[in-house]
Formats: sequence, C-alpha cells, structure tokens
Amino acid sequence: MTITLERFATPNDLPKSSTVVIIGGGIVGVSAALTLAERNIPVVLIEKGHIAGEQSSRNLGWIRKTSRHFEDVPLAMAADQLWQDMPKRVGHDLGYKQAGILFLADSDEHLSMHENWLKSVKPLELDSRMLTAKDIVDKVPSGKGNWKGGIYTPSDGRAEPSIATPMLAKAAIEKGAIIIQDCAVRMLSTSGGKISGVVTEKGEIRCEQVLLASGAWSRRFLGNHGISLPTLPLICSVMRTKPMEGPTDIAVGGPNFSFRKHMDGGYIVTQRGALDAPITLDHLTIGWRYLSQLRAQRSFLRVSLGKHFIKDLSMKRKWHAGSKTPFEDIRTLNPSANTNLNNEAMTNLRNAWPVFNQAEQEEAWAGVIDITPDSNPVIGRVGEIPGLTLATGFSGHGFGTGPAAGQLAADIVLDSTPLIDPYPYRFDRLK
Ligand SMILES: Cc1cc2nc3c(=O)[nH]c(=O)nc-3n(C[C@H](O)[C@H](O)[C@H](O)COP(=O)(O)OP(=O)(O)OC[C@H]3O[C@@H](n4cnc5c(N)ncnc54)[C@H](O)[C@@H]3O)c2cc1C
Repeated sequence: MTITLERFATPNDLPKSSTVVIIGGGIVGVSAALTLAERNIPVVLIEKGHIAGEQSSRNLGWIRKTSRHFEDVPLAMAADQLWQDMPKRVGHDLGYKQAGILFLADSDEHLSMHENWLKSVKPLELDSRMLTAKDIVDKVPSGKGNWKGGIYTPSDGRAEPSIATPMLAKAAIEKGAIIIQDCAVRMLSTSGGKISGVVTEKGEIRCEQVLLASGAWSRRFLGNHGISLPTLPLICSVMRTKPMEGPTDIAVGGPNFSFRKHMDGGYIVTQRGALDAPITLDHLTIGWRYLSQLRAQRSFLRVSLGKHFIKDLSMKRKWHAGSKTPFEDIRTLNPSANTNLNNEAMTNLRNAWPVFNQAEQEEAWAGVIDITPDSNPVIGRVGEIPGLTLATGFSGHGFGTGPAAGQLAADIVLDSTPLIDPYPYRFDRLK
C-alpha cells in the first residue's frame, strides 16, 4: 500500500560532523530541525526511510486541545499559534484550518466524561463548550444519530499530513539544516559516557548533542543501549473518500466513527472505537504498566496473537555498530489497513449521517502508534547519557502538537528558555 505523500530527494553524502544530530524525520524531528536551523545551529537530520513516511503522513490531521490531559494542553495551545504562523514561516499552505472539533456523546456516562474534562481544564480558559443535541443538529445537519450532546472546541483544527512535514523539512533545508534520507542510524557513539556522535549505515557523524525522535522505533533503539523506554504499538486504520458534498467542515468524533474534511473536499474516516492491538513480546514484559489504561479502554482494543508476534520476535534487540539493524530491514513501517474496521467505520457513519451513502473510497492505509503508559510523550534529557534528548512516545496525538514538541525539544537540546514548562514530559516519570 502506498499513501499520498509529497516526496523529495536529499543528498547521499554524510557530513563528518555537526553540533546536533536528529534521528527521525517525522513531524517532531523535522520541527526541531527547522527550529535549530532558524537559530543558526548546525543540524543534521537522519531518516531511515523518507520524510514523514511513518506516523506523520498516516495520521488523521486533527489538531486538538479537546480531551487532552490537563498537563498536555499548554503544548497544544503553543502548537496552535505555531500552526497559524506556519504558512508564512515555511512559505507554503499546509491545509491548516481552525474549523473546530466536536466529540459526540451517545450516553450519559460519555457526556459526563466530557463535562468532567471541561471542568478540569477551566483554569486554561479554552473556548471548549458543551453542546446539546439540538446544537449538534444545527452544527452538523441531516444527521440521524441520537446524541445526548457533545463537546466542541471552535479553535481546534486540522492540517494535511501529506504535505505538512515535507514542507517543514524543505523549509529547514532552505534555512541550513542537512537532511539525509534512506540512512538508518544504528547506534549512538559516546566518549567518557557522553554523546560524541552517531553511527549510521553509511558511516559516523561526530556531534555534541543527539535528539532521538524515532517514533515507534525509539524503544528498540534505546533498548540496544540498555535504556528502557516503555512504549507499546497499536495499529490504527484509516480511509479517505473522493471529494463529496459532506455535512460540515467541523471534524467530528463519534463513539465508533470519526470524519474530517480533506483539503480536496473528500473526508478522512476512521473507526474511532477500535484499534488493532497485535501482541508482541513487549506486551508481555511491560504490559502491566498499562493496566489502568487497559481497564478504561479494553473495549477499544482488537487484540490478536499471530504473525506480528513472530515477526517482532525475529527482529534483533541487540546489535553492534558493524551489523545490519532492524531499521535497515524495515525502511518504512507500513501495516495493512484493516478493511473490516474501515467498513465498520463507514457503516456507522452512514447510519449517523446518511449523506455518506454517496462516499466512494479513494485510498486506505494504517499506521503504528507508540503509546506510553500515561499516554503523554517524553520530551526531555536522558540522565544516563549526557547529550541525549528524547522527543518520542506521542501516543497517537502528536501531529497536532508536533511543531511545538519539536521546538520544545530544540530548546532543551540548546538549554535555552523552553517554549513551555517541559516538566510533564520528563523521562524520569516513566522509570
Ligand atoms: C492512523 C493514525 C492516526 C493519527 N491521528 C492523529 C491525529 O489526528 N492528530 C494527532 O495529533 N496525531 C495523530 N496521530 C499520531 C501522530 O501521527 C504521531 O503522534 C506523530 O506523527 C508522531 O511524530 P514523530 O515524529 O514522533 O514520529 P514518526 O512520524 O513516526 O517519525 C519517526 C521517524 O523516525 C524514523 N526512524 C526511526 N528509527 C530510525 C533510525 N534508527 N534511524 C533513522 N530514522 C529512524 C522513522 O522512519 C520515522 O520516519 C495518528 C497516528 C496514526 C498512525
């Protein structure tokens, strides 16, 4: 399966040294590279496949504050401002629009969950508000659903993943960053216990600081250095319709479907009530850390034990600088879309908004998301290895915060005043 994505060529030759090396060309690594380049800091970003090949092109493009943990909202607020300024900063439209996000509730329990969240974020003075069933009919007409109400945030929005990260990367290059694609970083190099460089499949780059922004691969990369980052994979399937006349510009999340308008007039649809959870060895070793999440979300997970388990077991967990790594074996994580889940989503959506009976599928895909035990990312230094910073574990909601997360990571790397207080994201909390 291929996914629509703006791709571009980058040089093959590795520089011998830099001040900062970033591992991973998703939205977080690329945003950090852009920030560093704008501050005239020599930076090299190394991507094993192509820019935004994994989560950063496969996501739904939702940019939301709604339903985030209280301590994660300031990052999302900072990101809103960055998204607004981005067309000017990178010289390109990224499809960003503050069209609003609405989550529907079909039970009193669900409604009070949204009310409780709204109460919890009161001090942050967001524009989020509860909607009645009648408000929902006004905002999203022609529906047949029986909603108890919903929560709506007008300042939430969307952008197009197929262009956003590639355009940020091109702007970073224009501003002086070096980006190398099709090149896996195998290991960190250290001298006297501190970062002294990285070893890639094409040779070594010396540097003072490394930012690891490797998404779903960060756990395996760090594991080879004896550092345990708890993340578990989940697979989310998505489909996109051809352009059509839809009910609203607002992105809408129902209990078992979601939809949001694409800039070409189509809709991105997913089964919001289900994710594939193929069991791997990691589920057996660190799964206990997720028990409270599991209690709340068990019904969401379609658990399976099979080919993923075997494939994961056969992938190396330890290697040395001279040997081929899993990052070279799998240039781009490209799981198959679960057609059953996509069909369920479309059926549920058609029942709720019959206008989607005319929807025709343009493409379908899936992506692996990296979930931490508290569903918040790690953006912070690693005490064991001075010079190493992490920006990873975005738990299925890091596209919207990506520009701010990358900037915050760059601030931490440079020891400069942070964009927001990074304390909620420290690595220590997961130890
Ligand atoms: C289906 C789906 C829907 C989602 N919907 C939303 C949404 O609507 N809103 C939202 O905010 N978030 C959403 N997310 C989550 C969001 O996409 C991610 O949180 C975000 O893109 C993470 O960005 P990243 O840069 O950390 O990781 P990634 O985009 O995964 O980038 C990591 C990169 O590192 C590279 N890499 C790994 N190891 C190495 C190595 N050793 N050497 C070199 N390169 C390496 C990988 O190839 C990859 O390109 C969704 C995710 C999925 C999969």
